[in-house]
Amino acid sequence: MMKIEHNHGINIKEDDKNVILDPSKQVKNGVVTHGHLDHLVKDSYMTPPTLDILGVRKGEKRGKRILYGFPHDVGGFEVTLYPAGHVFGSAMAKVEDVLYTGDFNPYGGKTCKRAVPYDCSTLIVESTYGKPEYDLPPKDEVIEDLLAWTKQQIEEGPVIMGAYQFGKAQEIIALLNEEGIKPYTPNSIAKISEVYNSYDIGLEYEVWNGKAKEDNYALVVPPGELRRPVGEMMREVRKEGGSSTYLSGWCAIYPFYKSMDLDAQFPLSDHAGFQELLDFVDRCDPEKVYTVHGSAEEFAGSIETKLGIDAEALC
Ligand SMILES: [Zn+2]
Repeated sequence: MMKIEHNHGINIKEDDKNVILDPSKQVKNGVVTHGHLDHLVKDSYMTPPTLDILGVRKGEKRGKRILYGFPHDVGGFEVTLYPAGHVFGSAMAKVEDVLYTGDFNPYGGKTCKRAVPYDCSTLIVESTYGKPEYDLPPKDEVIEDLLAWTKQQIEEGPVIMGAYQFGKAQEIIALLNEEGIKPYTPNSIAKISEVYNSYDIGLEYEVWNGKAKEDNYALVVPPGELRRPVGEMMREVRKEGGSSTYLSGWCAIYPFYKSMDLDAQFPLSDHAGFQELLDFVDRCDPEKVYTVHGSAEEFAGSIETKLGIDAEALC
């Protein structure tokens, strides 16, 4: 019988077969779903972009590639990866009849295909926004508001935008490019963006060298730049009377603009919000659900009461 437990990652065993999804350390037969730092572990199986991101972020490109949609033997199990819509290269993993979402977003983005539900007997679903009060507004509306605000502010002067340096920052660059804006960005974000461009994503940006060539420009920076004590780029934009914003799903819940003294914030998320999580579970039509990360206990409770499916928190 198949056994699923949390042990150095999501550990799936059956007879002598074994796979560890999102392992917390280097293991045999690990599968890494995406390139956020808390997930990046060497010598596991992952998509080619995730392996390249590993090389940039950890300095050593060691791992085994699996392409989306092609079944692969991992520890005796047949494992297939599918787009997760979370960040470039992110994957959901199907281990025979078990689907693990990893971090996922059903809307996807400019740089990653959306996550679609698959029929499965057991679903292991992330629950970052697993509380009913963690409902997120529709992504297209958030993007519309963000771009309208940016285009208005950039008429007046520089705009600085704080976003996580892998995933969110590149989404912002892609969105700005569509509006004809080529933003500046520090080397930390540019290095990761180069991986995107090696796959012909075509992100256009200029590496920040302390000064912009024009008066009205956009600057995409890691969130730390906006927090006190603010960084050199934030100081420069403030000196020029520019405006500032922070982009994160948590902006739907917390007023960061107050504590960080920003002009605006937008709830742009690369995760599913509460209602999207529930819809996804419903459409996978599983017999059993395990919830992982964030509000795992609360979300398991909601799945049982709202969908009538047996659910429990795994970690
Ligand atoms: Zn993530």
